[in-house]
Amino acid sequence: MKALDQLTFDNRFARLGDAFSTQVLPDPIAEPRVVVASESAMALLDLDPAQAALPLFAELFSGHQSWQDADPRAMVYSGHQFGGYTPRLGDGRGLLLGEVVNDAGEHWDLHLKGAGQTPYSRMGDGRAVLRSSIREFLGSEALHALGIPSSRALCVIGSSTTVWRETQESAAMILRLAQSHIRFGHFEYFYYTRQPEQQQLLIDHVLEQHYPECRSAEQPYLAMFQTIVERNAELIARWQAYGFCHGVMNTDNMSILGITFDFGPFAFLDDFDANFICNHSDDQGRYSYSNQVPIAHWNLSALAQALTPFVEVEALKQALGLFLPLYQTHYLDLMRRRLGLTTAEDDDLQLVETLLQRMQSGGVDYTLFFRRLGDQPAAAALQVVRDDFVDLAGFDAWSATYLARCEREPANAEGRRERMHAVNPLYVLRNYLAQKAIEAANGGDYTEVRRLHQVLSRPFEEQPGMQAYAERPPEWGKHLEISCSS
Ligand code: AMP
Ligand code: MG
Repeated sequence: MKALDQLTFDNRFARLGDAFSTQVLPDPIAEPRVVVASESAMALLDLDPAQAALPLFAELFSGHQSWQDADPRAMVYSGHQFGGYTPRLGDGRGLLLGEVVNDAGEHWDLHLKGAGQTPYSRMGDGRAVLRSSIREFLGSEALHALGIPSSRALCVIGSSTTVWRETQESAAMILRLAQSHIRFGHFEYFYYTRQPEQQQLLIDHVLEQHYPECRSAEQPYLAMFQTIVERNAELIARWQAYGFCHGVMNTDNMSILGITFDFGPFAFLDDFDANFICNHSDDQGRYSYSNQVPIAHWNLSALAQALTPFVEVEALKQALGLFLPLYQTHYLDLMRRRLGLTTAEDDDLQLVETLLQRMQSGGVDYTLFFRRLGDQPAAAALQVVRDDFVDLAGFDAWSATYLARCEREPANAEGRRERMHAVNPLYVLRNYLAQKAIEAANGGDYTEVRRLHQVLSRPFEEQPGMQAYAERPPEWGKHLEISCSS
């Protein structure tokens, strides 16, 4: 276990040069204090958890102190935002502090969000508010605990600095960890500004550092693109299966590693609703829950476009064509497991889709339905969940099909509960839970944020005394408006 001053840096991205990033020092926020820290994220850097209690911890992650070997930089990228191309975005309020090499030899980017203005800030103040920093912290750590690939969060640091959004709010910083912060938008930037040499450097960097297994392929760049397609198909399948809505799937928010990245107005479904739009600013529903699948494909085609100087168009199209079938395979596999099924039958997709239609019309809680279904043998469990449906005849018809399907399972009732509870969480980050924790934190009380983080770090395990975190939202918490403002 290491102390904070024992971290080893190897800043590979910074070494790509000034065409890729600009040196900027963090602009500190006043009176820094630790709101919450993640022990499991600290472990990725081999950091002793006790380090979070030292004054140095809050100072390092609020811009007051730095490491000699860090090389803080704002990265340049562009991206398609809500379908339209913005030629230059970049880190407007975040800095890549440096890359830490852990004892296992892995590189982890330390990325400090809310670190002040950069050449890419445009009209922004370079800050992040406490509210959105807490949401990103809880969201990324919760996804990780659910087994959904995501950037990680080391800590949130609060302060007495204030910023103006719709109203006055407190500024905060969040330290994000990922093995890379390179986005689809990085590739688009060098493509649309016609800088083939820099683009080549970028592609080779990503290939070498993040997709080394593709180097020996006949066409390494194509193999890398295909792997990115595969990873995204799996990622989106997990989002859909667990009801995660990202909210702002612009290409600048899509990680080249295929992990969940750049959290804005995200949400987990409460009641199942295929048309759910979590981003209050998304009037057209471009990024609605069910649109996440075609949008991921669209984003991958934007990346493919940026790769056309290096890979043949036909080959890129073929690789893109893998997305939907792969997505469907992963999604169906996950949903079968959520239903307690261990074998595959032809009508399984139909079984899932019919269930979702019934849930949609009945306003059934997406998380609790599967959890309760696994509580008991199928016939008994169905009697319990039945109460939540409005169209009982419709539900009974589905029930009969499901029951018959369960009876054809070789694994049958044996181990059903354990198997299902291992894939069906009891606790997810519901918006109203985040909201309660944020309100307390805005008043200076961080215990609720910390408790919620603890509960969500073991989402599949029933935790004594934590029943309140497994409840459907109260009336006030059902339709909270979460906007892009953060
Ligand atoms: P986001 O919506 O967080 O993905 O950000 C989109 C773009 O706007 C990125 O280039 C951000 O760095 C930039 N941005 C967002 N908020 C701010 C802010 N408060 N100050 C400066 N830049 C910002
Ligand atoms: Mg972004």
